[in-house]
Amino acid sequence: MRLVLLGPPGAGKGTQAMGIVEKYNTPHISTGDIFRKNIKENTELGLEAKSYMDKGLLVPDELVVKIVKDRLEEPDCKDGFLLDGFPRTVVQADALDEELKEMGIALDNVINIEVPSTELIKRAIGRRICKSCGDTFHIEFNKPKKEGICDNCSGELFQREDDTEETVSKRIEVYNEQTQPLIDYYEKKGIIINIDGTQSIDKVFEEIVNKLESK
Ligand code: ADP
Ligand code: AMP
Repeated sequence: MRLVLLGPPGAGKGTQAMGIVEKYNTPHISTGDIFRKNIKENTELGLEAKSYMDKGLLVPDELVVKIVKDRLEEPDCKDGFLLDGFPRTVVQADALDEELKEMGIALDNVINIEVPSTELIKRAIGRRICKSCGDTFHIEFNKPKKEGICDNCSGELFQREDDTEETVSKRIEVYNEQTQPLIDYYEKKGIIINIDGTQSIDKVFEEIVNKLESK
């Protein structure tokens, strides 16, 4: 399956991606994760991306598009992929369309996770991520068994630098301006699946699977 996960920051894309890639055995391509890895490794790309991410702004389209194009051409994406956090602008969506056309394939579904802004801020501020395996927890809504420690691999949990109230509010504003138009974009193509992201993590996953499989 060739899938995109769409939704505002903190909607639960990364959380649901873990279950989806396991169930459908497909590579998980998160542009945010790619940037964070580059920041950690002090690469030139990481340095440039960080200057935008710290302010809650989007990294320029040319940079993101190039990374995703290269990644989609890797052999493990031949039979399917899950894009998480890409595309985020109409320019990126058009570039993705073009790239897939060149590859002779197309997207099957765009999963749009809907959550109101007030909830998003609480979710992002309480988010904690494992340094080792990348699994995501929440200090209130998805508590690890032991505070600060990952349930899966006992790795240390950390808080993202851009998960402050100020930056999250900016990211939501940027989402509303630049990414929300993609809902209409994919609705017109008839491939959008709307999901009620206010339910529990398990219920959201159940709704995604049911809707994917009944299409
Ligand atoms: P995104 O990738 O869309 O930015 P995440 O998957 O990282 O969002 O989720 C943001 C935070 O909200 C995390 O701390 C996660 O544990 C929590 N979360 C995810 N889904 C739910 C849910 N359905 N209900 C409550 N909290 C959730
Ligand atoms: P995320 O991990 O998806 O929440 O992304 C974290 C940050 O990385 C965003 O706030 C952007 O600064 C940057 N980013 C991730 N994906 C994209 C994208 N597709 N386009 C532009 N910037 C992105």
